Amino acid sequence: MTLVNSQIFRRTIGAFLVLSLPAVYALTATMQARVETESKLAHERMAWRQLQSFANRVQRARALPETLELITQTLLDGQTLQLLLKQQSQVLTIDGTPITDFTVNSVVRTAAQQQRSLRYIVPDGQDRSMLAVCLRLEWQANEYFLMLTSDPAASLTAQARTGRMLREATVAAWIICLICLMLAISGTTRPMQQMSDGLKPNVDRHEREDMLLQISDRQDELGEISAALFRLENELHTRINTLEQTRRHSQGAVDLLTAVLESMIEGVIATDREQRMVFLNGGARRLLSIGDLIGPGHRLYEAVRIPPFLDIVQEALSSGEARSLEYRNPRDHAHHLLVATPILQGPHAGVVAVIRDVSDVRRLEAMRRDFVNGVSHELKTPLTVIQACSDTLRNGALQDPQSAERFLTQIDEQSDRLLQLILTMLQLSRVESGSEILRFEPVDLAQIIRETTSDFQTIASSRNLQLNCHDIDPILVRTDHQAARTVIGNLVDNALRYTPAGGTVSIAVKPDVRGVNVSISDSGDGIPETLLGRIFERFYRVEQDRSRAKGGSGLGLSIVKHLCNSLHARISVESTVGTGSTFTVWFPRVQTSSISPAPETRKLDRQQGAD
Ligand code: ADP
Repeated sequence: MTLVNSQIFRRTIGAFLVLSLPAVYALTATMQARVETESKLAHERMAWRQLQSFANRVQRARALPETLELITQTLLDGQTLQLLLKQQSQVLTIDGTPITDFTVNSVVRTAAQQQRSLRYIVPDGQDRSMLAVCLRLEWQANEYFLMLTSDPAASLTAQARTGRMLREATVAAWIICLICLMLAISGTTRPMQQMSDGLKPNVDRHEREDMLLQISDRQDELGEISAALFRLENELHTRINTLEQTRRHSQGAVDLLTAVLESMIEGVIATDREQRMVFLNGGARRLLSIGDLIGPGHRLYEAVRIPPFLDIVQEALSSGEARSLEYRNPRDHAHHLLVATPILQGPHAGVVAVIRDVSDVRRLEAMRRDFVNGVSHELKTPLTVIQACSDTLRNGALQDPQSAERFLTQIDEQSDRLLQLILTMLQLSRVESGSEILRFEPVDLAQIIRETTSDFQTIASSRNLQLNCHDIDPILVRTDHQAARTVIGNLVDNALRYTPAGGTVSIAVKPDVRGVNVSISDSGDGIPETLLGRIFERFYRVEQDRSRAKGGSGLGLSIVKHLCNSLHARISVESTVGTGSTFTVWFPRVQTSSISPAPETRKLDRQQGAD
């Protein structure tokens, strides 16, 4: 920014010009007039002094013409001296020649008597203004008038010179004033411009501080302002730093809270008093199927179309107390637990709704109920039989050895059944809880199948069933020997139990790329397709009474399923009512390279999914 562009400079100089030029003009004109007046007065005074001196000399003179000649020699430029003799009202000059252009009239006489000056115009084409001073004197009994005429023009040159000098001096003084003013303004505006440039936001802070420090050295108000600005700059910088740190901390806290809220599996929706959403996390979007187009700023009813949900939120808002609701999501029928907590005060007053999917909890509760029911049922039948037998024995049957033997056998059988049931439940509990120790090692599946076939051959023969197992080549799978034997044993046991006499049960082995499929097929009653998904549940039986009568506990397939999970095996079932069923277990094969001499031992994984 140059000096000329400075507003202060332009305004001050403008004001100076506006005020000073008329003043200078008026001063010059006044002085000029004064010089003129003073010059005229001086001219007049000098004429009078001269005339007085001449008159004295004339009065002392003996010969007038000679004296006059001497006097005229002393006259100045433009001056004439006349001695007028009044004779018979004719005015003669001293040498006797009459003067036509002048008369000793009353004007001259009065002026002479009163010693006043006369001014008259000489009509010589230039219309010069002449000054005349007259004195009356008597010489040798004659009355004379001595008149000194003088042309003021002679003194005008000096007067004009004096006027010009005055004007020049005034203009010079004005110019000096202007220059001094400009220097003074520039001395002030330059640091102000520096400050104004240096205080712009894009200027580096250190540059700005240097500039302010430099100006603060001045011993004037600008120096004080600059020092104050320097202190202000430092204070501002400190405050900005503090604010920035606070902002960073707050932002960090906000980010942390957002990350925590986003990582929650529960849905969280925060709304203001008007139920306009201010926050919703990914969990809420997932649970309530809220699309990306809906977000903070939208009304709650635009995101959630479940009337009871909206009612509970409204209730929490109006009552100022937390409200909860369990409802089934119309979209996926999941059980949701909603807790709406109002925020009563502060800038974020509104409500926070937390939505939790409690479907698993409810399912586990149902399973626990079913399990208790199942156990009660299973225990009830044998205990009832035992109680009935012991009652009968006490009431006299004990006296009859044959009856006593029969009832005692029944008590024995039912006790055995109870024991088996409890052992099976304990096994299931161990498998489910992961406390069963498994030893993963290369196991020959062919050997397990041979052992199982041998174990069940007697039972099959007793029930008039054919248990087939073709020669199987040794095939290694990575599994726990005892657990694999339990899996295959339970399936063969079921197949033998649910196949009528005369039927067939076959065990086949079919390797694939990564594992081995073991299939246990029977020609039994089969299972309706709709019930295939349920037979792995605890205590579930397709035909309750018939199955129970066949000695099943209702836990066999449940144990098989949990063991398969722990062994990284997979079980599947195909069945046709009236034709038979095929249960297939896939075991992972041992990769030749991964056979290690030491078997890997670990507990069963805790079962995540229940039946
Ligand atoms: P259970 O001890 O009663 O056999 P499981 O859990 O082993 O209990 O089997 C559950 C139910 O599945 C049985 O009660 C039975 O109704 C049905 N089931 C299991 N295996 C077969 C099969 N091979 N053929 C027909 N039904 C079967």
